[in-house]
Amino acid sequence: MWRSNGSTSHAGREPAHQAAAVAAGVRQEVAARQRDRAAAAAKNLMRFFRDESCGQCTPCRVGTAKALTLMDEKTWNQPLLGELSQAMMDASICGLGQAAPNPVQSVLKYFPHEV
Ligand code: SF4
Repeated sequence: MWRSNGSTSHAGREPAHQAAAVAAGVRQEVAARQRDRAAAAAKNLMRFFRDESCGQCTPCRVGTAKALTLMDEKTWNQPLLGELSQAMMDASICGLGQAAPNPVQSVLKYFPHEV
């Protein structure tokens, strides 16, 4: 998570450790939320990505927070979430921001009736 003093929750860790931490967090979230609806699971994953974003680049820092706000709405703005997801995938500078929209994309593709 980005902090105002410029530090991050995973500052000082090697990239491989960051990737392992992200993968472990995703596995835990998926396992804990297997009985959730897909939309609820995707929202929990987006919350995880927002909290783990180091804040270095805008598409990830702002995109994860904005996506979570949009996903909190009773009815998702699907076109806007689709555009936001594409921008995050195209412009984020590391795998965390590039992968964060994947759960959203899956819900929009396979479970649009939920949102
Ligand atoms: S995409 Fe990577 S570098 Fe950019 S804010 Fe997210 S975690 Fe940091």
